[in-house]
Amino acid sequence: MRITVLGSGTSQGVPFIACSCAVCTSSDPHDKRTRPSILIDLGDVSESGRPEGPRDTSAVRDAVRYVLVDTTPDLRQQCLDNHVTRVDAILFTHSHADHICGFDDIRRFNQLQQTSMPCFGDGETLADLRRMFSYVFTGPKQQGGGVPQVRTSVIGGPFTLGATEIVPVPLLHGILPVLGFRMGTFAYLTDCNRIPDASWPLLDGVTTVVIDALRRRPHSTHFCLDEAVAVASRLGVGRAYFTHVTHDLGHAETCAQLPRGVELAYDGLVIDA
Ligand SMILES: [Zn+2]
Ligand SMILES: [Zn+2]
Ligand SMILES: [Zn+2]
Repeated sequence: MRITVLGSGTSQGVPFIACSCAVCTSSDPHDKRTRPSILIDLGDVSESGRPEGPRDTSAVRDAVRYVLVDTTPDLRQQCLDNHVTRVDAILFTHSHADHICGFDDIRRFNQLQQTSMPCFGDGETLADLRRMFSYVFTGPKQQGGGVPQVRTSVIGGPFTLGATEIVPVPLLHGILPVLGFRMGTFAYLTDCNRIPDASWPLLDGVTTVVIDALRRRPHSTHFCLDEAVAVASRLGVGRAYFTHVTHDLGHAETCAQLPRGVELAYDGLVIDA
């Protein structure tokens, strides 16, 4: 499985609009952070990777390889920058604007793949998508441009995409319940400041994690650096990458101070897990 960090920044992105701080004006490309998202490549689903047997074209067509987590306001640019040519399914963590406002760009993948997009989220998140993008679900008032074609499924527990089990991991983002996701030994835990007791066992055996770490100072809805380091340590992971990073943290100087095996994620980071 290969994970590409499409965006590693906080809700406003970095640089902030009209900010002249050292990080926002940094020339280090690692300090340019778009809104938080990852693309997961579950692996080869081509004929050569399939078991012997009668050719089943519908199964090939419906095979799931590339799974996007969230549709940020930067989705279009993220796809261009990372040469994303295909998305087979989308998982939503929650419905905050920085995680859903690129929803309309699903249209391009509808055109490329000639099929509707399977979208997965908890009931609250899907209800918010229906409300905020009502034109997608009720049809446009006039023809022209088109609207995203989506198929939504409520996440009620672990489910399978391709041959991979997707385990939703309930997290708390302040008082808002959100979902992290675990696949194999990898977990993506953005937008959280607490892992409920019942969720820790779901993370047993995880060796690589991408986790929320907004800044040094504590925050009411996001883990800060020390808290995220403590979570990585309790999980016992070999590798932890911090995401949803704000402009308080310069990439190079922060990474130099983090424990071994822990670093800030950055846009374009590729992780094999
Ligand atoms: Zn966020
Ligand atoms: Zn700044
Ligand atoms: Zn959020």
